[in-house]
Amino acid sequence: MAGNPPRQCVQCGERLVGRTDKRFCSDACRNLYHYHANNAPINYVRNVINILKRNRRILSELNDGPEGTKKVHRDKLVQNGYSFLYHTHTYRTRAGNTYVFCFEHGYLELGENWFTLVRRDEYLERAGDGRSKDTN
Ligand SMILES: [Zn+2]
Repeated sequence: MAGNPPRQCVQCGERLVGRTDKRFCSDACRNLYHYHANNAPINYVRNVINILKRNRRILSELNDGPEGTKKVHRDKLVQNGYSFLYHTHTYRTRAGNTYVFCFEHGYLELGENWFTLVRRDEYLERAGDGRSKDTN
């Protein structure tokens, strides 16, 4: 007559004895479990922010063309570690072109794996970082 399978500590797998609602073998295991559970979202956010910052840096370094725009191939972006999974926002023009941005740097996909890199300095001004437009 087998009863319920032996219950185990959620954290370390140690067999549990005593109350049937116990989930941890010790306070240490309970604390460790909640520590990691609470930090998982923070780590995720930090990782995404790091990816966005890296994407921005890659775009800014590759976009060394005149007028703040430059045509680059996808391979160049990938070689530099660009992640197409993450961006801060998109901007759709009236003509129907969708620009993808990582902060003030972005790109327009041209097709055939080519991209036009762009920079929108007005985003920096909108953020109120101390720079202001000339009024005359
Ligand atoms: Zn345990």
